[in-house]
Amino acid sequence: MSDPDVIVVGGGISGLSAAWWLARSGRSVEVWEQDARLGGKIASRQADGYLTERAASMMLNFRPEVSQLLAAIGLDDARIPCPSAPQCQRYLVRNRGLVSVPMRLGALVRSPLWSLRGKLRLLAEPLVPRGGHPDETVSEFVVRRLGREVLETAMEPFVAGPLASDPDQASAHAVLPRLVALEQRYGSLVIGASVRRILRRGTAPVRELFSFDGGMATLIRALSATSGVRFRARCTARHLEPTRSGWRLTGQMPERELTVRARELVLSVPAPAAAALLHPLDSDLGRLLDGIEYGALTVVHVAFDRSAIRHPLDGMGFLVPRSEGLPLTGCQWMSSTFPARAPRGKALLTCYVGGARAPQTRDWTDSRSIDAVMALLEPLLGIDAAPEQVWIDRHESGLPLYHGAYFGRLHAMTKRLRNWSGLHLAANYRGGVSVRDRITCAHATARRIHTSLAGSRSAGSATAFDSSTTPAVLRSLG
Ligand SMILES: Cc1cc2nc3c(=O)[nH]c(=O)nc-3n(C[C@H](O)[C@H](O)[C@H](O)COP(=O)(O)OP(=O)(O)OC[C@H]3O[C@@H](n4cnc5c(N)ncnc54)[C@H](O)[C@@H]3O)c2cc1C
Repeated sequence: MSDPDVIVVGGGISGLSAAWWLARSGRSVEVWEQDARLGGKIASRQADGYLTERAASMMLNFRPEVSQLLAAIGLDDARIPCPSAPQCQRYLVRNRGLVSVPMRLGALVRSPLWSLRGKLRLLAEPLVPRGGHPDETVSEFVVRRLGREVLETAMEPFVAGPLASDPDQASAHAVLPRLVALEQRYGSLVIGASVRRILRRGTAPVRELFSFDGGMATLIRALSATSGVRFRARCTARHLEPTRSGWRLTGQMPERELTVRARELVLSVPAPAAAALLHPLDSDLGRLLDGIEYGALTVVHVAFDRSAIRHPLDGMGFLVPRSEGLPLTGCQWMSSTFPARAPRGKALLTCYVGGARAPQTRDWTDSRSIDAVMALLEPLLGIDAAPEQVWIDRHESGLPLYHGAYFGRLHAMTKRLRNWSGLHLAANYRGGVSVRDRITCAHATARRIHTSLAGSRSAGSATAFDSSTTPAVLRSLG
């Protein structure tokens, strides 16, 4: 069997979508995945009429590449949209009660979440002069532009919840690249957003929040069926070596060792795994990767008879600001958002424990995590019964936190990579953790590879890359 053009190490969404874009442009690709199952963090569990997600439960998309991929793999009809207003209401915990998050300007003005002073500070944002520096934290950026109340009640729960990170340590450039770019370009977030809205009138990308029939595993299944890609499960990359024409990769399969050559190599594995492979070649690059911090997360799914919960569950769930002093960062009301994920008459709630806010929860037993969840849910939602079912998913290294001088770290990594022709790092510590960002970054990586291979050898088609331009945040990753 001939050598592939590209080997992708890691069969999570980053690796699978990179392989898909490459195959679509006519390249031969192998994906090596150490587990028996493809999907990495993403996996959907079906049991007793419930569907629970191990990690990503839905995706928010506004990128044309992502829409293109989903349509091409036949998932347009499998999408299950999240409810639109008013059922998409989100809440914040405030003094152990729930306050709805304002979705429109009028509601924001009336909202009890912010004081009059906080609201005036928010409205004064266009008057704040440009500022900041490359290592500015999320907290510094948000307080400087929007005020402390917005940080504590809006940005902190968002950064601690879906991103598991700590805004006092997370890099604004890495975590909020679009907001930072608005300030740099227009001098103001409010003015920048308004100008963009006017310029894009009629052509603005639609923001869609959805999952799939059968859960996020449906996306993984569809990508795992990509023709032109050879998938090698239970194949752990152990050693890589540059050759005159590309890379030689050695891996361990259950019964034998395997060595394959390819022109280009994509490492779509978590940073510690990439560091282990790269240390012998480039200790500086290895150190940069090793220095990336990850947050541990415990996902606790609890199911109840609907009659046991007094709250109407009229929304998608809630986030918990740090001011509440809790180890939980949020709870998604899954059966309200996706009714098919629970049997009729039952309620499924998915809670997130840990992250940078509560690293001590990494060592908690299952029962301690369940107790912490129930101690909040019972009074908050008026629950007067024990859960009928509980499932727990643990992620020892759940998400990269983007802490510290991350922008500098990414730039230093990009600079080191210039010494290694044909080597690409494409995983969720670079360019965003969301499924959308992973697919968008994979598109950019595949385009770079396609261009490089087209320069050295003709084959393949560029049409897979025609429909969009690479966003600025990805250009900065080189
Ligand atoms: C609890 C949780 C909830 C989330 N919720 C959402 C959400 O609702 N929406 C959203 O958009 N995002 C969400 N995310 C983020 C998103 O799920 C992840 O960022 C994304 O799935 C990571 O994909 P990846 O391919 O970069 O990494 P991974 O999924 O970690 O894949 C890396 C793969 O590399 C393999 N590997 C490692 N080393 C080797 C080796 N040496 N050889 C071969 N293979 C190797 C691993 O086995 C793994 O399969 C969530 C994440 C978590 C943890």
